[in-house]
Formats: sequence, C-alpha cells, structure tokens
Amino acid sequence: MEEHRNLWMELDLVEMMTFVGCMVAVNSLVFVLCGALELVERYDLFSDRKIHKTAAKCEQPSVRAVVIHMLKVHYIIQPLGLPLFYTLMKWGGVRFTAPGPSWLEIVIHLAMIMLIEDTCFYWIHRALHTPFLYKHVHKMHHEYKQPHSWAVEYSHILEYTIANTFGIFIGAVLIHTHIYTFYIWILIRTAEGVDGHCGYNFWFSPFRYFPFRPGSDVHDYHHSHNIGNYGSLFTFWDSICGTNISFSNYIQRKKMALH
Ligand SMILES: [Zn+2]
Ligand SMILES: [Zn+2]
Repeated sequence: MEEHRNLWMELDLVEMMTFVGCMVAVNSLVFVLCGALELVERYDLFSDRKIHKTAAKCEQPSVRAVVIHMLKVHYIIQPLGLPLFYTLMKWGGVRFTAPGPSWLEIVIHLAMIMLIEDTCFYWIHRALHTPFLYKHVHKMHHEYKQPHSWAVEYSHILEYTIANTFGIFIGAVLIHTHIYTFYIWILIRTAEGVDGHCGYNFWFSPFRYFPFRPGSDVHDYHHSHNIGNYGSLFTFWDSICGTNISFSNYIQRKKMALH
C-alpha cells in the first residue's frame, strides 16, 4: 500500500531555527566583502585594476542609503521569510540530516546548482528588462551606472526576494542536495555577486577563471550601458541568444584603441 508523506511531521523547529541562524550568518559575508572593498576604494589600492578610471557622471545612491537598505533586508525581512524557504526546501527534498555529503557530491552538486541558477537568472533578468518590470522593479538596481560592491544588493524587494532568490533555491531542491552544500553555494554566489559589482577586475579573483566568464567587466557593462549581458555566473546564455554582441563589439573597440 502506498504510504502518504505527512509533510507537517517532517518539519523540525530546532532544525528550522538552525537554518535561519546559519543563513543569516552566511549571508552576512556580503558586509565583510563590501567593507573590505570600501577600504580598497578609499585608499585607492589596485587603481590599475579599476574598470572606470573617472568618477561616475551621474548621481548614484550613497553608501549609507545602501547599507541601511541591506541591514533591513538581511536582519528583518530575510529572517521572516526564511522559515518558508526552510519548509519548501524540506518538502522539496533538501537533506538536513547526517550523513553529510562527500567532496565529490559537493563538487558535482555545486556545478549543477550553478548551471540551474545561471539559467534562471538569465531569463528572469531578461524579463526584468521588459518595459513594465523594468520601470516598476528593476530600475532601482540600475540606479548604479558605475557599480561598486554595495550595489550588489541594492534592488527592489520583489527582485531580491523572488527573482534572485528563486534561482538560488530551486537548483538545490531539484537535485536534493545536502544543506552543507547549499551553504557553500550561498558563500560562492555572494562572493560572485560582490565581485561582479565591485568595479575592479582583480587578477586574483577566482571568478575570473570560471569557464565562460571573462571578468567583472561583463556585469559592469550591463550597468554602464544597459544592453545585454543578462547572465550571472556564466555567459553561455548570452552567447546562445546573442545578447552579448554589443559587449563583444565594445571589447573589440577597446582592444583596437590600445593598438
Ligand atoms: Zn539589469
Ligand atoms: Zn547588477
């Protein structure tokens, strides 16, 4: 006889609170990275790696405004929403208990999660550039024409909680990953987001060596020119759909100008 799952019995309050606490801690990495990059900017370190050599001509949100926005998101809105995500992940098959994953499983799962997230991000991001969604949702993130690290999470609450978060969670659910792998993934995605917005092309950035991802200038171009480059971790969807042609021409022109 087929056994029916009692979904409510699967939930565990201690496990849920541990998940909320770990997620808040892991997500706080963004403040450490952005703070470190703020020092790089203030003391004019690595100026040769700067993407824009001159200050932004347009007015951009102040660091103070962005930090206040991020504090609200991280320590008020997110902890309220995380129990729902715990429930969905638990019911979706994410493993929260021992045994933990092997290193091989972690590597394979991370690769799969990244591919799924990049696909979701590309298409959702492209949809956010349709006139209605751009005007009412995505425009806030594009207030930055020359982004710096703090811009990474300066977005409309709908974009942050639905558009960005969906892609981050769905891969973990689809492949029934372990929660440890998921925490590693959040750390990678946070660091990648900061790297993509920091305004520097650091040679030591591990993301520079990701396949199909040449450097931070890809997403920086998306902000400065507002044309194409919709992917997050990779560029293959942009290549398949031809949404990086403008960027490729721009790089080409830059190279020719140097010779
Ligand atoms: Zn955009
Ligand atoms: Zn951005």
